[in-house]
Amino acid sequence: MKEILLVKLGEIVLKGLNRKNFEDTLIKNLKRRLANVGKFQVRSAQSTITITPVYDDADMDEAVDCVSKVFGIATFSRACVAEKDIETIKQTAAEYLADTLEGIDTFKVEAKRSDKKFPLTSPQICTEVGGYLLEKFPHLSVDVHNPDITVTVEVRDFAAYIRAGVIKGAGGIPVGTGGKAAVLISGGIDSPVASYMMAKRGLELTAIHFASPPYTSERAEEKVVELLKKVSAYSGRMNMYTVPFTKIQEQIRDKCHEEYFTIIMRRFMMKISERIAKQNDCLALITGESLGQVASQTIGAIACTDNACNMPVFRPLIGMDKEEIIEISRKIDTFDISIQPYEDCCTVFTPKHPRTRPVLEDVIAEENKIDYEPLIEEAVNNLKLTVI
Ligand code: ATP
Ligand code: MG
Repeated sequence: MKEILLVKLGEIVLKGLNRKNFEDTLIKNLKRRLANVGKFQVRSAQSTITITPVYDDADMDEAVDCVSKVFGIATFSRACVAEKDIETIKQTAAEYLADTLEGIDTFKVEAKRSDKKFPLTSPQICTEVGGYLLEKFPHLSVDVHNPDITVTVEVRDFAAYIRAGVIKGAGGIPVGTGGKAAVLISGGIDSPVASYMMAKRGLELTAIHFASPPYTSERAEEKVVELLKKVSAYSGRMNMYTVPFTKIQEQIRDKCHEEYFTIIMRRFMMKISERIAKQNDCLALITGESLGQVASQTIGAIACTDNACNMPVFRPLIGMDKEEIIEISRKIDTFDISIQPYEDCCTVFTPKHPRTRPVLEDVIAEENKIDYEPLIEEAVNNLKLTVI
C-alpha cells in the first residue's frame, strides 16, 4: 500500500494576489525540509499539494513530523493511493483503515470526484464504500451527523486517495514570503520563542549572537547553536553571526556610570545588529523582550533602546507572561536547552541598581564617553559565521 500526504491550501491564501508566490514558496520550503527525511516528490494540482515518497521504505511518521512544522499549512492528512477502480478502492479502504475502524463505533463516507470520467457519481462511491466497510467490520454503524470518523475518498486525475482524519498544521505564512529580519538571540527562554513566532509570520531569519569571551564560554555559544537548530525545524536554515563583544563591554565597565551599564550595552547591541541586518537585506530586528520582565525591559528602558537604531524592532513577546512563553518553548522543544545554566553577556558586569527610568539624554551623555565608532566597526568586521 502506498501512502502519501495531502496538503490542503487554506482558503484565505487562495484568494489574494499573492497566491502564486505563497504556493511556490510553500512547495520550495516543503522540498527543502523533506530532503532531510528522504526522497519525496512534492507537486501541486487542483489546490492540493501531494507529497509522494519515491521509495517504498520512506519513513512516513518522520515525514508527518517534518510537514507539521512547515508554516503556511492549516491542515494536512495521510492518505492511501488506490487505482481508480471501485473494487480496488473498497478493498484498499478496508485494509488501510482496518486499525482505525476496529477502534471506533460510527463512521460516514464522503466522496469527491474531480475526475468526471469516473463511472460512479460521488453518492454512488459513498454507498459502495460504506456498504463494503459495514460488511467487513460488522460492529460499525453509519452516523452521517456525528460520526467517530469520516472516511474520505477522492477520485482525482491520476489515482484515488483514501483518508480518515486530518492532522493540524503549523499555521502561519510560508517562511520567505514576508521578507527577512535579524533576530537577537541569547541562550535564554525568550528569544528562541520570539524567533519561532516571527518565522510563523513568513519572515526568513538571520540570527545575531553577542559573545564576550572569556566572560562567556564557548559552551554558551554552542547552546545558542543548539537552540537555533530547534528553531530551524520551523524557520528553515539560517545564518548565525557571532559578534565579539568583549572590548565594548569592558569599555562600558571602565568609562560609564554603573547604573547605565545594561541600557548602554543594549543600545550597542541594537546599533551593531542594525548594521549586520542591513548587510544581510534584513528590514527589521527581532528581540525576545517582554514588558516589565527585567529592569532593561521597562517602557522607559525600551524607549532608550529603540532610540539607538532606525529600524523597526519586532518584539512578539511584549505582552506575554513568562508562563505563556514557556508553554511555546516546550512546544518547540527549546525549553530544556534554554534552562541549561550558561552565562550570557547580559549577565556580565550587571549593575546592582540598574536605572528603571533612564533619561535618554543622560544615557547618551554616558555613552559618548566611549569612542565607540571604531569599536563597532571592529566588531562588525570580525563576525563569525555559523550556518544553521
Ligand atoms: P532571553 O530569554 O531571550 O535571553 P531575557 O528575558 O533573558 O531574554 P534579556 O537578557 O534582557 O532578557 O535580553 C532581552 C533580549 O535581548 C533577548 O530576548 C534577546 O533578543 C536579546 N539578547 C540578550 N542577550 C543577547 C545576546 N547575548 N546576543 C544577542 N541578543 C541578546
Ligand atoms: Mg537573556
